[in-house]
Amino acid sequence: MSDKFVYTFGDGKAEGRADMKLLLGGKGANLAEMSNLGIPVPAGFTISTEVCSDFYNNDGKYNEKVVQQVENGVRHIEQIMGAKFGDNKNPLLVSVRSGAPASMPGMMDTVLNLGLNDDTIKGIIEKSGNERFGWDSYRRFIQMYGDVVMEMKPESKEEEDPFEEIIQEMKEKNGIKLDTDLTAEDLKELVMLFKQAIKKRTGKEFPTDPWEQLWGAISAVFRSWNNPRALTYRKLNSIPADWGTAVNVQSMVYGNMGDDCATGVAFTRDPATGVKKFYGEYLVNAQGEDVVAGTRTPQPVDTSTKTSDDQVTLESLMPEAYQELTRIYQTLEKHYRDMQDIEFTIQKGKLWMLQTRNGKRTAEAAVRIAVEMVEEGLIDEETAIMRVQPEQIDQLLHPKFDPSAKKKVIAKGLPASPGAATGRIVFHADDAEEWADRGEQVILVRIETSPEDIGGMNVAQGILTSRGGMTSHAAVVARGMGTCCVAGCSDLNISYKNKTISVNGVSLKEGDWISLDGSRGEVIEGKVPTVTPELSGNFGKIMTWADKVRKLKVRTNADTPHDSEVARNFGAEGIGLCRTEHMFFEGDRIKAVREMILANDEAGRRKALAKLLPYQKDDFYGIFKAMHDLPVTIRTLDPPLHEFLPNDEKSQQEMATEMGVSLQEVQQKVDSLHELNPMLGHRGCRLGITYPEITEMQARAIIEAACQLTKEGVKVYPEIMIPLVGTKAELANQKVLVKRVAEEVQKEFGVKVDYLVGTMIEIPRAALTADEVAEEAEFFSFGTNDLTQMAFGYSRDDAGKFLREYMDRGILPEDPFQVLDQTGVGQLVEIAVKKGRETRPDLKIGICGEHGGEPKSVAFCHRAGMNYVSCSPYRVPIARLAAAQEAIRTR
Ligand code: PEP
Ligand code: MG
Repeated sequence: MSDKFVYTFGDGKAEGRADMKLLLGGKGANLAEMSNLGIPVPAGFTISTEVCSDFYNNDGKYNEKVVQQVENGVRHIEQIMGAKFGDNKNPLLVSVRSGAPASMPGMMDTVLNLGLNDDTIKGIIEKSGNERFGWDSYRRFIQMYGDVVMEMKPESKEEEDPFEEIIQEMKEKNGIKLDTDLTAEDLKELVMLFKQAIKKRTGKEFPTDPWEQLWGAISAVFRSWNNPRALTYRKLNSIPADWGTAVNVQSMVYGNMGDDCATGVAFTRDPATGVKKFYGEYLVNAQGEDVVAGTRTPQPVDTSTKTSDDQVTLESLMPEAYQELTRIYQTLEKHYRDMQDIEFTIQKGKLWMLQTRNGKRTAEAAVRIAVEMVEEGLIDEETAIMRVQPEQIDQLLHPKFDPSAKKKVIAKGLPASPGAATGRIVFHADDAEEWADRGEQVILVRIETSPEDIGGMNVAQGILTSRGGMTSHAAVVARGMGTCCVAGCSDLNISYKNKTISVNGVSLKEGDWISLDGSRGEVIEGKVPTVTPELSGNFGKIMTWADKVRKLKVRTNADTPHDSEVARNFGAEGIGLCRTEHMFFEGDRIKAVREMILANDEAGRRKALAKLLPYQKDDFYGIFKAMHDLPVTIRTLDPPLHEFLPNDEKSQQEMATEMGVSLQEVQQKVDSLHELNPMLGHRGCRLGITYPEITEMQARAIIEAACQLTKEGVKVYPEIMIPLVGTKAELANQKVLVKRVAEEVQKEFGVKVDYLVGTMIEIPRAALTADEVAEEAEFFSFGTNDLTQMAFGYSRDDAGKFLREYMDRGILPEDPFQVLDQTGVGQLVEIAVKKGRETRPDLKIGICGEHGGEPKSVAFCHRAGMNYVSCSPYRVPIARLAAAQEAIRTR
């Protein structure tokens, strides 16, 4: 650590720079940078974040050097501003503000007007020629200092702010409503009453010595680094606790000294749309907090942003200050090469800049600004790619609620599939289809969904479940369809029998309107209008640039020709996972599937499977065609067979009648398939091993479709994937079957097809023995849903019950079914990649678990050396961008 703790700025010079954010905090570093650029910044100094750590290590004491350097800092301000700290005639007043390396808006404390006491107030009144202004500044100072430094806060939830209570009493006594109606005399009296209240509550006198005030405020700002608000904010935004905050001490400038003063905030481009307009608001004769408080309506800075004739722009009111502001904002934007969010104050006609930082923006604005800045020559394409957050892109692809609409949120669940939906409640998939046929908009509400519900899910505007996590059936299928879904909303009490939901005191019934925000996991009462965003040409440009730099390929998880096409339009470069079982429910197929399950011997099963074959072949034909020239990974049957049989007696009876068997027979089969742990039971390759005829039928359907298309001149690249493999022998068993059938079919058609046989790596044992598995596998695809389930030992269907609490308590940083656990599950992935390639150096490796579309997990896949990620169609652009960003970062 160096001996320098305090960095001064002002008068066109500074000891710090913009790239010193870790040491000086964002605000301090940018104030220094502005000073260096010759931009008018009130003089001041920044106490570094190192002092914050020392403060905590030394019980709130400062070493001699810090004390000395702060004193020199004050002298520096005095010199530049021509005023003296604590002087009765020409007093210097300062602000003391926090400024962490990462923006933590409003989380820490600030004290303004510091240096005022019963003597210096006289100097301020004389200097400003405004008595009311003087006393108003003084009472604001006591109020802020009392709150922040002397802990004058409400003592219980019922109690009001003690200072506001006093103000309120005075207003009532004098019969006035607004703070602005308080006279100089009133304010003077308030100053006295405030001091008395502090003495009464704390037993301490309000400090009159400006130096004592200063050190009190500096310590309070350091302490506020660890206040509960800041702690929560840091946790939510993954800001390290050991960074600490810097403290900025700066000369006060005033926007509230009279009508030649003003204060405002502005963005150098429109943060909502990205349009290149100077987008700001200001108030005449006001302090910064008045602009935010909303008691007076701010006016537009620039004429181009005027929305009504009665507005008075800064451009017309103070043309000189406006010109200067324009020159400065253009300088700042060019210098930082990014859209800036600035704060300014005009004191008696002179403009002062108080802050600049990169402005927050919507996805639409982020894309537009990034592309236009490339076109303006301000940044290069790679910088533009880094400027758009992959998570934000979701906002662009899905419908969203009309931002002006009112919403009453009645419950929260998991944000399982993004977008916004509004519709009428139905509880059964069949009803959803029936209502949709009549032209109704519906929301399908289920305790949980099963593959049987697919038809209803397909027509619903949105899907809401009370059980299940981010990889539950509802979540996975909804994401695949691009349908909005809130899952695992455990507050919902759903009664299928009464067709009602009760939730947090609200009762809803079938047919009632309800809305879902799938990006936030919110359930909203009633109808909320939605708007469908349009994709701009700028979006296409960013994506093209991203494609140029990324190393990872991006495929999609799709089960139908339609989804495949949607994904291809989003830029998918193949299919990474086609879950064949999703097709088993459509139309007549389920009958054949059930016939196969009910059959008592192989012959019976083969007969039923023969009926299924043409359907499957058709499916694959459609998908291969949609994905011509690109690889298509098709997985053999995965779920336990009981999922294809009905659970309730009514449906079982219907099935029995349809199949011409007794209800008892159906029920016996259901009972015999019952498992205590179906996810660890008779599923995946275990099905194909015990019923080889199923794998044979599927392999035949795949290769027949491929041969036919090859004959038609369409290029197809099937990759047949065996699920839930834990040992090499399991894969070998299935591979022999697939190869035999493939040979037969190719002979029958008289054509050759380039196909591969590979496996999912989704069981920890397969990852650990990947060198052996790779002797058989021609490719690997990580099924990180199951891999996470088995590595953590959390049932993916039941983990919703405790995961939220785990995250709230900090036991888990994130839901591992959403964001890949790089520490644990990640090791299994890395081991498998390494061992797999030891056996087969050119082994093609991808991921098809839900993590394949999550930006941080995509970045991990890049670093792990995978060849591709595969995700639901709507997440393809997110993965493309995330892959490009990681390629740039790791270069
Ligand atoms: C997985 O386990 O990650 C996977 C993709 O398979 P499924 O979700 O269908 O079990
Ligand atoms: Mg799986």
